[in-house]
Amino acid sequence: MGHVIVVGGGPVGVVAALAAARSGFEVTVLEAAEQVQDDPRASTLHPSTLEMLDDLGLVDELISVGLVARHFDFWDKPSRSLVARLDHDVLRHETRFPFVVQTEQHKLARIGLHRLAEMPNVEVRLGCTFTSLEQSADSVVVHAQTADGPVRLTGDWVIGCDGGRSAVRKGLGIEFEGYTWPERFVVLTSLFDFADAMSCSYRSYFADPSEWSNLFKVAGEDLKGRWRVVLPTSVGESDEQALSDEASMQRLERICPGASQGEIVHRKIYRVHQRVAAQFRVGRAFLAGDAAHVNNPIGGLGLNCGIHDAVELLEALDDFRGSRNEDVLDAYERRRRDLNIRYVQQQTVSNKKRLEEKDPVVRAQRLDELRAIASSEESQRVFLRRTSLLESVREPHASA
Ligand SMILES: Cc1cc2nc3c(=O)[nH]c(=O)nc-3n(C[C@H](O)[C@H](O)[C@H](O)COP(=O)(O)OP(=O)(O)OC[C@H]3O[C@@H](n4cnc5c(N)ncnc54)[C@H](O)[C@@H]3O)c2cc1C
Repeated sequence: MGHVIVVGGGPVGVVAALAAARSGFEVTVLEAAEQVQDDPRASTLHPSTLEMLDDLGLVDELISVGLVARHFDFWDKPSRSLVARLDHDVLRHETRFPFVVQTEQHKLARIGLHRLAEMPNVEVRLGCTFTSLEQSADSVVVHAQTADGPVRLTGDWVIGCDGGRSAVRKGLGIEFEGYTWPERFVVLTSLFDFADAMSCSYRSYFADPSEWSNLFKVAGEDLKGRWRVVLPTSVGESDEQALSDEASMQRLERICPGASQGEIVHRKIYRVHQRVAAQFRVGRAFLAGDAAHVNNPIGGLGLNCGIHDAVELLEALDDFRGSRNEDVLDAYERRRRDLNIRYVQQQTVSNKKRLEEKDPVVRAQRLDELRAIASSEESQRVFLRRTSLLESVREPHASA
């Protein structure tokens, strides 16, 4: 049957574990935290990801605690004018989910962990921190630390889904190639109703040479709705200054006058990177999700790509169980690493450049390109296939 040890019970880890359990593997999930962390990170689940989560039986519950967003917007922030509104419904002939779902990632992790707890072939160990691994030709031994002391587990495969600072990746000696942006990203969560005030979509990107912004509506725990605002710190600004009342209110006011009147219910600051692991596989150990790649959040692609990694890796392990063909395992690394670079790294960097462009001529060109894309169903379709990662998951798998 095979035993898969998943390190990390975040959103990618739970999807990997559910996919492994569905394929009949024995599964152990090791999660360092005692409970799911609910800091504001991913919320946008694209059509390509909804298809996979639906196959795992999760979509209805995710929609019930989130928001369905058919449209998304690009705005010119200095003039507060709408540049382009794109409609996912143009993808209706290509996917059964021609929309995105805005559901906070901790809800996915929580729902996934509940499902896993009900499965006879799964064990979830919370408060269990991976420390090291060793492997032979036919097994892998994982060492972890718990409040009651060290534990040792033997499995057939280990999947590192333990986030950007992955101890699994470090333990395997894999380089995390790329760079860190000098500015940090501020995330403010506000009860101000931006859609009511400025008729923007639930996912709106604002281009501005002095301070780009992203706006997202999420349901929140009470399902009453709240807005996440993502913006960069300015040069020389400390984290404390950026998160101060004064700076937070000024940032909200610059997006929409009156927005500072809404209660700010959460503030957080993130360091942002563009990095891809040099390898996604070493023998019986694999990386998936942020352990394998990190990127800026403009475009909402990091988690989506991580979920695609997890689902495709379990397909490969399932295939290997029948075929014993090593190449299906190497193909996981070749394909997922390449897709991350060509779709996620490329798009998130160019999304950021488009929003922060300072040269007035280039800036006007970028905004005109968006207007042109929005002007026809066919150009929207081409654009949205790429930005929703539908094109990446539909790329044929090279034959093993
Ligand atoms: C502001 C912001 C907005 C974002 N928005 C989006 C978006 O809209 N769409 C999108 O696709 N992506 C988005 N992202 C990216 C997204 O948050 C990440 O890609 C996602 O969290 C990756 O999930 P993961 O499960 O790989 O890693 P994580 O969420 O980091 O989970 C890793 C898990 O591993 C556990 N762990 C760590 N070390 C160990 C250990 N040694 N032993 C055991 N367990 C361990 C951790 O406790 C954690 O539970 C955003 C990111 C940020 C910062």
